[in-house]
Amino acid sequence: MKKPDKLFLASGNGDKITEFRQILRSLEIELTSTLDLEASEEVDEDQPTLEGNALKKARFWKEKTGLPALSDDTGLEVDALGGAPGVFSARYAGEQVTYEENVRKLLEDLRGAENRKARFRTVIALVGEEEWLFEGVCEGVILDASRGQGGFGYDPVFLPDGSEQTFAEMSSSEKNAISHRGRALQEFMSFLRSETG
Ligand code: IMP
Repeated sequence: MKKPDKLFLASGNGDKITEFRQILRSLEIELTSTLDLEASEEVDEDQPTLEGNALKKARFWKEKTGLPALSDDTGLEVDALGGAPGVFSARYAGEQVTYEENVRKLLEDLRGAENRKARFRTVIALVGEEEWLFEGVCEGVILDASRGQGGFGYDPVFLPDGSEQTFAEMSSSEKNAISHRGRALQEFMSFLRSETG
């Protein structure tokens, strides 16, 4: 796919869109998202995999807007919980819950656990004339209490391997340089460069 002039960011999550915009700034592509639409629509994330949900969102918005669409589905996989919450990360503590409620449930479920290894996995789907998937993983551990005010979601309890700061204690550029989403978007940008030649 040649570098497009415009891309639609197929996400209604303002926190993700902020990170997309920061990471993709150097591409000089006009980015619009569901947040720019007067009346937006929710795509039900009912697929059993990150890939399935990412493709579903990007296909829907490509169809709706006629623009190539880029979507993100992310999960936190915790080893001691058999890979949960995974694809259910947004709804871990129930439907329509806050980030804080999900974090609280995670800390409760891990109380006393010795193995605190976990990873964030992001799958990005690009749907244009064809469909492509990009993946980014960031390994780390879950702390036993929140640290930091930045980021979003599970960031205050996620300590990436090799770092002394949680994602919520980092600046956004420090997080983006090593995060799952940053890595998946680097893959996407390398793809565009290789296609453009
Ligand atoms: P989804 O990709 O919209 O299904 O997001 C899943 C959930 O994972 C979100 O509601 C957040 O709680 C969490 N999440 C996604 N990306 C991140 C991140 O970069 N840091 C921390 N939590 C995240």
